[in-house]
Formats: sequence, structure tokens, C-alpha cells
Amino acid sequence: MKTVHDFPRIPLAVGPTPLHKLENLSRKYGKNLYIKRDDLIGVGLGGNKVRKLEFLLADARARGADVVFTTGGAQSNHAMLTAACCGRLGMEAVLVLKRRGVTGEKGNLLLNRLLGAKVRFVDTDRYGEVYREMHRLGEALERQGRTPYYIPVGGSTALGALGYVAGMEEAYGQAVALGVRFDHAVCVCGSGGTTAGVALGSRYFSPGTRVLAIAVDDSPFEEIVPRLMGETLALLEDPALVRGEEVAIQYHMGAGYGVAGPEDTAAIEEMARLEGIFLDPVYTGKAFARFLSLLREGYFTGENILFLHSGGAGGLFAVDLPA
Ligand SMILES: *Cc1c(COP(=O)(O)O)cnc(C)c1O
Repeated sequence: MKTVHDFPRIPLAVGPTPLHKLENLSRKYGKNLYIKRDDLIGVGLGGNKVRKLEFLLADARARGADVVFTTGGAQSNHAMLTAACCGRLGMEAVLVLKRRGVTGEKGNLLLNRLLGAKVRFVDTDRYGEVYREMHRLGEALERQGRTPYYIPVGGSTALGALGYVAGMEEAYGQAVALGVRFDHAVCVCGSGGTTAGVALGSRYFSPGTRVLAIAVDDSPFEEIVPRLMGETLALLEDPALVRGEEVAIQYHMGAGYGVAGPEDTAAIEEMARLEGIFLDPVYTGKAFARFLSLLREGYFTGENILFLHSGGAGGLFAVDLPA
């Protein structure tokens, strides 16, 4: 068996990121609520993708890549952070983004320009077509002697998921230092890699902590997450099996991926006003809205709950928040 420390990794995060109690929210809801601040990870405006990119870009470098392709929605945090990390490593980033939702050069699109990333828009909602375009562009560069590396949407591969196995090793180490044992760990699920890593990291470093993922789109995560967990176990040469009930998944799509509703605005405001922390309208704000409703409904049986802040600040400046 291997551990995450046996894999090539480029340190990109400025870590460990803080893990602290949410004092006012804890008082309000009668539980000990903690937050892992991966929004403060030290690259771009922060976010979970940096942990995945530590492993993915190490692989890219090991393969001699000089240009990195990735994809996502127009306001993809993952694409922006890929560009930010590639710049630091002297690699070129090409972002092949879905055009839907482009509203001028706001949010992450502005940041992509500042980072000097090449951005190509495609008029499709299907990732199959996006990947074909990515490979067409990559092959043209190969003919010019370049070496491309391709990262799928969200960086959600087994290698990317290792980022959150490492991230949870960090978080649970901090919990020990604080003298808390988490009964629940809650994360956002967008393409599944973070959830797979959080689940395996919890299994290794805090068995007994129950993982809840809040999905913000309607992909079949009951299949995607266990599959990614299985692939990550295989990478780690861990013969253990994936148990279906290891991760609970709750869906909070609202009116659609990337579309925030009034309850999401209220949750973002609550976190801002009580704790001075900004959540984003596409991922963490929506997940937090569902998290608060589950708290009110008495979903959580344990007292100590960890919420992973996975970043996304750029979206606040590009996505409308209804009152
Ligand atoms: C991508 C993203 C997520 C979801 O992570 P996945 O690994 O894609 O499931 C959550 N929060 C933010 C801010 C993100 O950018």
C-alpha cells in the first residue's frame, strides 16, 4: 500500500490552511461548527482545486508537459486556478470553456485575463464535444513540438482526489491539536473528486467521522463518487473496498447549476454577517444553505461538525444573487 506522500507533488498551497470554530453560528444552532478554510489556500482567490493541482501538475511536469489544457463552465474556479498554478510553474494554460453564462469579462473571466491564460469558448453543453475540441487544439500544438497535458473538468481524477486525502490528513491533524473529534465532515460536490478524497481521507485519518456531500448539480454522484473512490484506492494500491454508505449525498441544485436562489443568498448573508466569511454563489453558498436547513431539521446526530470551505470567491462578482 502507498500513501499520498509516495506520489510526486508540487507544493502550491500556502498551508496548512486555517481550521477554526464558527463561534456565532455554533451558538445559534447549538452544535460545535468548525470550518476548514481552503478559501485561504494562498493561490488566486483560493479554493479546493489547488490541492488537486499539486498532484496533477506534478504528473504533468513528470511527463514533460509545457502546455496544460483544462475545461469547465465559463466561470470555472478550477480553470482559473489551473491558470494561476501553471503560471507559477512556467507552463502555459489553455482553458476550453463552455460559453453558456458568459456575461462580459467578469469574475473568473477577468482573472483568467490577468493571469494570461488562453481562453477558448465552445458552444455546447456536452463535455464530449469539449474534450474533442481540447484534443484537436492539443494535437495542433504537438505538431509544433509542444507537449500538452489534459486535465478533465474539476480535476476529478484519482490523482486529483489524492489532494483531498492529503487535505483531510491536514484537517484531522488540526482537529487532534484542537482536541476535537468530528462526528461529521461536510463538503460540496461538483464533479466528485473532492468528495472522493474527503471520504477516503476520513476513512484513513478519522474513522467514525461521517461524510456528507452536498451536490450542486444533478449528475449521478451515487455512482461517480464510489467509482472515483475505487480508482483512488487502486492508485494507492489499497485492496480495501468502497462501501456505498460511506458517503451520504444530498442534492441542492435549486433552479440549476450555477443559479442561486433566495435561500442561497440568505445563507451567504448569514455566514458573512455572523462570521465575516464570504461563500460563493455556485458551490459553497448553495451547500451551506442546504447545510443550514439540515441543521434545523436535526439531521446531524453528533455535536462536532466540520464544513469545508472550498473557495469560489470569483463567482461572487459574476453571478447574480436574488434578494
Ligand atoms: C469545484 C468546486 C467544488 C466542487 O469540487 P469537486 O471536486 O468538483 O466536486 C466546490 N467548491 C468550489 C468553490 C469549487 O470551485
